[in-house]
Amino acid sequence: MPDAVLQLLLPAECFLCRALLPYHESDHLVCPVCRSRWRPVTPPWCERCGQPEPHFGPCRLCAAWPVVLRRVRSAVWLDAGARDAAHALKYGGLPRIADDLAAVMARVLPPPDTSSALVPIPLGHKRCKARGYNQSEWLARALGRRWRLPVVVALLERTRDTASQTALTPAARLANVAGAFRVRNAECGMRNGRASSRDSPVHSAFRTPHSALVLVDDVFTTGATLAEAARALATAGAQAVSAVTFGRAVVPDFT
Ligand SMILES: [Zn+2]
Ligand SMILES: [Zn+2]
Repeated sequence: MPDAVLQLLLPAECFLCRALLPYHESDHLVCPVCRSRWRPVTPPWCERCGQPEPHFGPCRLCAAWPVVLRRVRSAVWLDAGARDAAHALKYGGLPRIADDLAAVMARVLPPPDTSSALVPIPLGHKRCKARGYNQSEWLARALGRRWRLPVVVALLERTRDTASQTALTPAARLANVAGAFRVRNAECGMRNGRASSRDSPVHSAFRTPHSALVLVDDVFTTGATLAEAARALATAGAQAVSAVTFGRAVVPDFT
């Protein structure tokens, strides 16, 4: 049956507001009205962490991050409309919604170098089992299709399930995630920062030893999780890590 007929018989509706999707939008899960409610994070911002200015003196948000984490960007502010979308990604169980979120994420960083690889932030085992999927992996796969980059899921793992970060101060968040990640696959061709000559390309997650890695997560709050993941990747020899998230929480003022 032609798509147009199917569309008449089974009109697609927006996953968030249930409005009918226009025919030319039927490959989306989120309608243009809901997408227009997402408020982009825009410059001027800290070149490194993407947190909008003003700063008085050096940026405090990224000052304690490991050197390897060079650049972090988020697509939209996590308020009204975007919060619903992030929630739907996390609990809605529909991988296709990740495409709509990845579409706006792909615009906040120039397409990474073709030797780059995307690394989703892993969930703890318990949480992943309960949810049945890792929402960051879905985002990474959707971004990977847009950027034509590989997604490396077997690289990072959580050493433990961390407590919810919601009520924590930035300093407490850093302590909460300290040591929370490790590089699982020591055969990644990054040992000592150099590709081992006996690693075949098939078994190496990285096409070159200097591959840039791009961490992918759904939400940025203080960056503590990304900083800790980047630290683990650096320990395994990664030289440059950047990160992209869909939402950016308005950082609570703890001062
Ligand atoms: Zn909608
Ligand atoms: Zn900064």
